[in-house]
Amino acid sequence: MICASITQCRGCHAAIDRCEVVLTMDPMPLAGVFCPTEATALAAPLIPLTWVLCSECELVQVAENVSDATLFSHYNYSSSSIAGLVQHFVGYAEFLKARYSGSDRLSFLEIGCNDGVLLQRLPQHWNLVGVDPSDVALRATTSPVHYTLHNQPFTLGLVLDQHLEGKIDVISGSNCLAHISDLRSVFEAVALALRIGGDFWLEVHDLASLLRGCQWDTIYHEHKVEWSEQSLQRCLAPLGFSHVQTLKTPMHGGALRICFRKESHRGSSPVQPNVLRPLLNRLQEAYHHRYETKAARLLIKSKQQGHCIAAYGAAGRANVYLNQLQELRFDYIVDEAPLRVNKFIPRVATPIVAQTRLLEQPANDCLITAWNYREDIIRKNPAYSGTWLTAFEED
Ligand SMILES: [Zn+2]
Repeated sequence: MICASITQCRGCHAAIDRCEVVLTMDPMPLAGVFCPTEATALAAPLIPLTWVLCSECELVQVAENVSDATLFSHYNYSSSSIAGLVQHFVGYAEFLKARYSGSDRLSFLEIGCNDGVLLQRLPQHWNLVGVDPSDVALRATTSPVHYTLHNQPFTLGLVLDQHLEGKIDVISGSNCLAHISDLRSVFEAVALALRIGGDFWLEVHDLASLLRGCQWDTIYHEHKVEWSEQSLQRCLAPLGFSHVQTLKTPMHGGALRICFRKESHRGSSPVQPNVLRPLLNRLQEAYHHRYETKAARLLIKSKQQGHCIAAYGAAGRANVYLNQLQELRFDYIVDEAPLRVNKFIPRVATPIVAQTRLLEQPANDCLITAWNYREDIIRKNPAYSGTWLTAFEED
């Protein structure tokens, strides 16, 4: 069985009957998969995709839980190979160094350290620990690194086995929380490992940004949850964390960097009205009217006139957009990553081609599915004389 429905909230363990459906999208293939042949693309399995809101902690999450083995077998990317991510972590490392400059021998643990893209940039005299079950994390330690890697998931068992209880000054997790099935257990392990007064930094995709831009193309099975500051507070306060600070960062179309502090006692987060509720309704509207946007209408008209139409940027969100607007039938989708070229988008079977195709087989209209890189893409293709369209306007 490729997926099962969750039986409790991932963030607070409330029973599933405390969760309300807020968006039902067309069943679609996994967004992280690109198929080697047209036949395998056409045969890609469809999985229901339902977004639910927990009334206890306000966490928004995908109700279908695809097993990690299925989800991440195709998804093994190395952060250091993505220029935008490296730049982000250079900035984050500088931020942390300035923040803890007075600490000589800081114990710092990173959940989901990938290939050490952050840890390798932190001071060598800190006691650095990375926790990550992926092959990418393991391969990175075959050459010398100045951190200790635990090549397994971050769990209570790991904290106990490694005798980390109350020993860690700072724990950080960047963009890993979206991919973890049981977050409540991870938070309990963080609470056990941190010393009283220790800091827990989280970098998460910002649900409010997603909702304000009506970016339903970032909703897919790999993104199991979407956080707001309020939902994090509601999940962490009962475990003894107080909110310290929230910063906004531009990563992935809008992200939050939030700090919580481990206190000596457990608290609770005051119940406030859910400010995101009206935005969730607006997202639902935008999804249901997805064929009525300016870009979609132009593409349909262009296709009816027998023109060639293309898309640009074959990432997960392109898989979502092309599968949720199947009537558009793009002739091809351009991608700059050689590993993706000559593959096919699952189910709709759109061929992924190199940048040169845009001039060899000119498209009248080219939809930028990687809309957060719009300016870069236009700059890199000065000879393209067709019309650029954008799937979503950036927030
Ligand atoms: Zn919950």
